[in-house]
Amino acid sequence: MPYDADARTGLDPQDWAETRALGHRMLDDMLDWLEHARTRPVWERMPDAKRAELRTPLPERGTGLATIYEDFQRLVLPYGSGNEHPRFMGWVNGGNTEAGLLAGLLVSVFNANCAGRDHAAIEIERQVIAWSAEAMGFPPNAGGILVTGSSLANLIAVLVARRAALGPAVRQAGLRGAPLTAYSSAAAHGCIARAMDMAGIGTDALRIIETDADGRLIPACLEARIAADRRQGHRPFLVVGTAGTVDIAAFDPLEAIAAITARDKLWFHVDGAFGATCAFSARHRNKLAGLERADSLAFDFHKWAQVPYDAGCVLVRDRQLELDTFAQSLAYLQTAERGIAGNPPWPRDLGPDLSRHFRALKVWMTLRAYGAAGIGHVVDHTCEVAQHLARRIDNEPKLERLAPVALNIVCFRYSDAAGDLNEFNHELVADLQESGIAAPSTTTIDGKLAIRAGIFNHRTRFEDADAMVDGVLQLAEKRKRLAAISPAPSSGP
Ligand SMILES: *Cc1c(COP(=O)(O)O)cnc(C)c1O
Repeated sequence: MPYDADARTGLDPQDWAETRALGHRMLDDMLDWLEHARTRPVWERMPDAKRAELRTPLPERGTGLATIYEDFQRLVLPYGSGNEHPRFMGWVNGGNTEAGLLAGLLVSVFNANCAGRDHAAIEIERQVIAWSAEAMGFPPNAGGILVTGSSLANLIAVLVARRAALGPAVRQAGLRGAPLTAYSSAAAHGCIARAMDMAGIGTDALRIIETDADGRLIPACLEARIAADRRQGHRPFLVVGTAGTVDIAAFDPLEAIAAITARDKLWFHVDGAFGATCAFSARHRNKLAGLERADSLAFDFHKWAQVPYDAGCVLVRDRQLELDTFAQSLAYLQTAERGIAGNPPWPRDLGPDLSRHFRALKVWMTLRAYGAAGIGHVVDHTCEVAQHLARRIDNEPKLERLAPVALNIVCFRYSDAAGDLNEFNHELVADLQESGIAAPSTTTIDGKLAIRAGIFNHRTRFEDADAMVDGVLQLAEKRKRLAAISPAPSSGP
């Protein structure tokens, strides 16, 4: 029944039974959708006609929810990016779970504003931060909050490091020309440079340190650059180590970096966006040795830990410094001794957001439903699939592996084609995505365009890796046949 403004006060339904029946149907459909992810094509391009259907003027009057849901099923649901699918292997995306799906419903109903105040959602978030600290080797009283993702978590860490370096005055007076410099490897994520930009320090102040053949920051180069900057009057303040680089999942030598930052009194931050998830795996935890010495850590629950978007986390060893970086006193947002305005400190004093949704529930439910060991098992299993994929590629004469498989990312290319292999592989990946068979992405390694398969989805099996390789080989042959007929090899198959 559509909403009728004249007949109602407020937005609650006139007929709750009708809403209840629709809600039950939606829940059944969504559970079916997750259960049968494997049976669909990974991805299908949204047709232009359907995109056009979405372009309507602002609706003046209400539409019944049943009609809106039909539109959702027709116009939205079939055209996702496909990251719930076991053969989605692009970028770094989580796959969702039953716990995540149901948590989403509970979060919407509870509708908590997690800026602060005295309610259960704040306690759940504190518990999630304490569990995170426990898993990552941070002290039980560490600071931290949940945020949209590692991009914001890394920005928060840069701001806390900036505050630690320059003291309280930076919050009123700004940088005042302080010649701060920070350090990360060439393989660090782009959001580190962006954080430097947004923090007002500028991307030029981020020194890019060379990596070794395995993509790991070289500590001797870091030391030399810090010393050179000091000699030239700069003020080194921050080193960012990456635990799991986006291209090939390389881990910087965190212990060696910690030794340098401890000696030189620099802030040691780790971007562990997906790699920190290894903390849940007994087999892979050793890659994070040294993380327990970091001053701060950014990581995501929405990638390898499978929590639905969005769920990033920042941990700060010294919570007081995080409070010193963000706390404000505003008359209408005062905390109190008792009543709803009690229970300080509030998340709004630990980061840049005021209103925040109840992200912690889906993380709390995920960690309870599967346990730390369950997440660790996903890590172990996906790494095994990646090793299987690497062996398969190494056994295929027409495929060339382009990087070591340190963890769960496999970079390779099809090399048995005439002409520009970068162009060929670029088109091949698009062919594969459009075929619906599998969805890897691309990256560039030593100037070579690589097909990049990141195994992040807990549903991915050995046979899915094989299906992807079969798809690559088959579509490459098709592309070569077409190229032999038509002179324009980059037009679609
Ligand atoms: C994904 C990723 C980021 C960015 O995280 P978002 O959650 O997408 O903001 C940063 N660093 C690394 C290494 C990543 O993999």
